[in-house]
This record gives sequence, structure tokens and C-alpha cells, in this order.
Amino acid sequence: MTKEEILKKYFGYDTFREGQETLIDSILEGKDTFGIIQTSGGKSLCYQIPALIFPGITLVISPLISLMRDQVAALNEAGVHAAFLNSSLTQNQYYKALDNMTRGQYKIVYVAPERLLTDSFLQAVRQVEISMLSVDEAHCISQWGQDFRPSYLKIIDFIERLPDRPVISAFTATATKLVRDDVISLLKLSNPTVLITGFDRKNLKFSVMHPRDRYQVTLDYVKDHIDECGIIYCLTRKLVEEVAEKLQSEGISVTRYHAGLGDAERRHNQDEFIYDQKQVMVATNAFGMGIDKSNVRYVIHYNMPKNIESYYQEAGRAGRDGLPSECILLYGGQDVVTNQFFIDRQQESADEMDAGTLEAVKERERERLRKMTFYCFTNECLREYILNYFGEKAPNYCGNCSNCLTQFEDVDIRDIAKNIIGCVKTSHQRYGIVMIIDTVHGSSNAKIQRCRMDENPYYGTLKEVPVHRLRQIINYLTLKEYLILTNDEYPILRLSDQSEEILVQEEPLIMKVAKEREESKAKKEKK
Ligand code: ADP
Ligand code: ZN
Repeated sequence: MTKEEILKKYFGYDTFREGQETLIDSILEGKDTFGIIQTSGGKSLCYQIPALIFPGITLVISPLISLMRDQVAALNEAGVHAAFLNSSLTQNQYYKALDNMTRGQYKIVYVAPERLLTDSFLQAVRQVEISMLSVDEAHCISQWGQDFRPSYLKIIDFIERLPDRPVISAFTATATKLVRDDVISLLKLSNPTVLITGFDRKNLKFSVMHPRDRYQVTLDYVKDHIDECGIIYCLTRKLVEEVAEKLQSEGISVTRYHAGLGDAERRHNQDEFIYDQKQVMVATNAFGMGIDKSNVRYVIHYNMPKNIESYYQEAGRAGRDGLPSECILLYGGQDVVTNQFFIDRQQESADEMDAGTLEAVKERERERLRKMTFYCFTNECLREYILNYFGEKAPNYCGNCSNCLTQFEDVDIRDIAKNIIGCVKTSHQRYGIVMIIDTVHGSSNAKIQRCRMDENPYYGTLKEVPVHRLRQIINYLTLKEYLILTNDEYPILRLSDQSEEILVQEEPLIMKVAKEREESKAKKEKK
């Protein structure tokens, strides 16, 4: 059968989606293949179809028992012989399945990575032909990824113990350049076809706001869209309760979801939302896995999430039906601190990792948090920022995000930058953003006095610049790497290679600043 016939016969589809055909062809040509496909983009078919064409067995490595079970059930239903091998089987069931495998009863076998190097499994695979090994959720192999699983490192040992090297294919929905490079090198993919596809969701409009009062902004938005379904993501359970309760008291049709609720209540609330009995879901990031509600018209992030991967996945729950939908992120300075706290707290739960690895993982998470923060401060196209993050090229104007739709004016910040950098330099690169701002702004709080920053030559030199503007400019300086903000628990501002250049620069240093809206200007004038 051809791949088109298989697509029709077993999966019931007439045409391939973007990228699928290229990946399938590459695998069928016997080339190692790495597909980076947006969630729900259809990556499973990319290895399942070749598996049905290859003469031998395809092994699929997958991290989640529930995922394996669903996939195998779906395949069996479609008439494909498949099985899974993981810790959910009894010993009897496990050996029965292994036995069936060696007798050639399955085309596709899903395996948990922990099983690969066991004697029984190694012995079994030596008796059969393995045509392909496919690694699902391949980012789990990388320490730089958001979901590192040390057991994934066993995969390459396993491959090297096979009498013949099969075709290797790997798939993931989220991979940055670092993670991609890691997947390729740790799996020793040889000259692989790499395809990144389908990350752009054109019907989604992205916005970032820095509101004084997030609740008011949220309430106004929900009221303006009273006939539509939406999700509001909060960072903590406490906030979920608070926001849901307030919206409820305004008469909004709202329900809530977080890990602190009992199973029954969670299921009940989820169903209410999915079946349109309640229009607004207020939830932590515990909500959404595997939920396929097509008519979500907006996703509001009440707080900044921990990284772009999470953000894009959560925001991407809007507009699955392809109709125009909005993704709004409400940024508050405290969000960085809360996320930082979550990262630092990880200690106990990461039992599989040694201390050094855990520290490296945390370091990466801080870096990802920084990139997320930059998203909230960039003046460039938000869609471009996200797509670039995932390694996809994009034009620098999409016309459908809050930055593309905002008018900016150029402001020369050279002199302010000189003062800020000067202050960092003369205080020996020891302090964080707040201390530097307090110093140049001339604050006289206890900390300033204790550290004797009131004796710093730059003390009070930027008294007339509002604090929020100073913060905005420092963010810009770090975004452009004129200053470096360290990844420490209490981040510190340091000089970069470019700092000195700014200190002596004579030309203007231009920053784009949003033009004040006419209405807010008018309001101010009235006062
Ligand atoms: P993921 O990339 O998240 O693993 P899946 O492989 O589960 O996504 O596919 C997501 C959905 O898209 C599934 O319901 C699948 O049946 C469907 N799908 C995949 N390929 C096609 C196609 N060529 N045409 C139509 N639907 C498809
Ligand atoms: Zn844009």
C-alpha cells in the first residue's frame, strides 16, 4: 500500500497536513528524521504510516503511560496490530506481550524508556527485525528542555546494542535551538532531515498589557465578550479562587479548576466549561491537557507564565476552530518573583536528578523565564518573537499583535543609559534593578543608606525620570545586552562588552516607546 492509501484506509483522511508528507518520505528513504510539530499538528501519523510500510517492527519510545494506552487503543481500533510495554502491565501481561512481539504479531510497539535496557527486552528485540525506532516527546532527552527525563538517555545505549541500526525518528512539539541540538547529538542522529512546522496560528491575536489593575482589565474584557467562551489562567490556586469568586459576584458565568480541588469537582467544572454550561474558566496551568474545545475565543493570562513553551501551549487553546481569537498576557512585576520562587522550590520533587543536574536545570529555567519576560517588554512583533523562539522564521510584522498595532515613537535614551550604566559600574556590579533605580532616582530608603548608595556619584542624577520609565529603559538595556541581568536567585545587573561603548557614545541611542493614546493624554490634560 502507498502512504496515501494507508492514510485513507487506517486513519480516514484524504490529504496530508503541512510537513507530514516530507517527514514520512524522509523516513521511508531510510534517513534519520527529526520533526518539530506544533501540538495537535499530527505528528503521530508521521511515524505510524512508515511503520505500516516497513517490513519489521517499529518501536516507539514514549514517556507517558496514558499517552501510550490511548495511542495503542486508537491503533487497534483502526485495525493496526500494536501494543505497549510499561509498568502498568502485570508481569504476566508483560511477558505475554513480549512473546507476541517476538512472534511477529505487532507492527508497532510502544515502550517506556526504563524498559529498554532490561535483559528480557534486549533478548526479545534481538530475535526480531526492528525497522525503526521512533522517539516521541524527544525534548525529554535534553537537560535544556522543560521536561528532562534521565531515562531518555538510555535510548542511545539501547540503539547501540541492536545488531542492526534501525532508522531513527524523533518528534517533539517544543524545542528551542539548544534542545534541538541536544536531541540530534544525544540520539546520534546521522545527517537527519529536520523539519519545523506549523507553529504559526494566524487566527490568534497576541497582546501584552502592563495594567495597573489586572482585575479591572479582565472584568472589562469579559463583560465586553459576554457571549463568548474564554479561559483565564492564573499562576496560583489562591488567585484562581479570588478571580473566579469576584467574576461570579459580577454575574459572570464562570467556573474554576486547579489541583487543589477534588477529582469529582475538577471533572464537573471541566465538563461545565467544555459543554458550554459555563462560559469562563478560571484555572491554573493544571487545566487544559488533552482538552479539545474548539470555540474558545480568548485566553487571558492573568499572570506571566514561566516560559514561552507554556505560554504558547496555553494561549494556543484559543481558536482551535480557526476563527479569530485573542491571547492577552497581563504582566505584573511580581510575576517574575513568583515564577522564580517556583523554580527555586523544585528541590525535593526532582528525585531522579543529582544536585549538579538539578542546578543546571534550574539555571535553564531561569533563562527561559528571562526570555518570557523579554516577550512582555519587546516592542517588536510578538508573533515573530514566539516563532523565532521555536526556531521558525517569521516576518517582522504580522499586523495582528499588540505591537504591530501600536504606534511607537523614537526616544533618545542615551543620557539616561549613561547614568544607569555609570551607576552599575561605580557600585561595582553588585546590585539588582531596584537598588540601581532607587539610587539614580534619589530615593532615601534604609537600604540605600545602609549600602551608602547615597554617596554614589550617580545618586539622584535621574530624579526627574519616572520610576516606571527607568524600569522600562533598564529592561530595554538588558534586552539589547547593553547590560546583563544575571540568572541568580536575586538577579544582579552587570556590565556587558557593550556597556563601555554606551558610556562614550555620542550618537543618540534610540528606543521605541508606545505613543500615548489620544484619550489618555486628554484625560491627563483635564486633571
Ligand atoms: P500531536 O501532534 O499532538 O501528536 P496527533 O498526532 O494526535 O497530534 O494529531 C492531532 C489530531 O489531528 C488527531 O485527531 C489526528 O487524527 C488529526 N490528524 C492528523 N493528521 C491528519 C490529517 N492528515 N488530516 C486530518 N486530520 C489529521
Ligand atoms: Zn505582530
